[in-house]
Amino acid sequence: MTHIWVNDQLMNRNEAKIDAEDRGYQFGDGVYEVIKVYKGNLFEMEAHINRFYRSADELRIIIPYTKDVLHKMVYDLVEADQLNTGHVYMQVTRGVAERQHYFPDEASATFTAYTQVSDRPVEQFEQGVKTVLYDDIRWLRCDIKSLNLLGAVLAKQAAHEADCAEAILHREDIVTEGSSSNVYGVKNGIVYTHPANNLILKGITRDVVFRCAKEQGIEIVEEAMTVEELLTMDEVFFTSTGAEVSPIIQINDTIIGDGEPGETTRKLQQAFEAKVQESITI
Ligand code: PLP
Repeated sequence: MTHIWVNDQLMNRNEAKIDAEDRGYQFGDGVYEVIKVYKGNLFEMEAHINRFYRSADELRIIIPYTKDVLHKMVYDLVEADQLNTGHVYMQVTRGVAERQHYFPDEASATFTAYTQVSDRPVEQFEQGVKTVLYDDIRWLRCDIKSLNLLGAVLAKQAAHEADCAEAILHREDIVTEGSSSNVYGVKNGIVYTHPANNLILKGITRDVVFRCAKEQGIEIVEEAMTVEELLTMDEVFFTSTGAEVSPIIQINDTIIGDGEPGETTRKLQQAFEAKVQESITI
């Protein structure tokens, strides 16, 4: 939308300038977050802020604001843009310095944040999506939400070219996650998903789904699946800030279950929807 934070200046997007030697631009040396906004309400804001600081900390990037100040900045941005339903994108890089790989002595972080209108993908919630399998060629710190997204970009492009919504990544025969989502299989009513270690991003939506499952009496086991196991699950679904809880009905040429979103997925979608509605307070 029209406003953007560039460091501590809230300005018009067309007035923003980013230096060509910003390390985010040259090295992908930074981290980011995407936060959903439902009817003007930031969803799971505290969790996103905590993960933002954690990602930055892992890369020894210092965010020059307290969490409370950052929260207010994002809130003010949503207000300035009068955003109803959409998302906030925010990132912090190691800053501007003459190009060399090691950390500069002088640079101070560059922070940017802006909003985007985006509808909830309700058709996808209802009908489910088709997906492709793709080799997980990413680095070994996928727990950091870093700007280096080439592994995800190539995977998503493969999905796009196959007319699919998401690429499911695997290291050798172990399923890790989606190119921009977490992936789950359901067998006999039990949900399986990769443990939250260095090979996946611990999704905020994943955390909400874990809470939903607990409340619904649905068991979730953090155990990696093989590709073969995934293909023979009763149900498969994926989660992310944008996709929420979305059913997967096909992986490559394999139809999952009976080709319709399954019962456990439906229950989790309903429980997630209740959390969304609870978050709408203004
Ligand atoms: N895994 C990856 C690789 C992602 O890029 C994302 C989101 O962009 C997720 C998982 C889901 O995270 P979240 O639920 O916090 O959006």
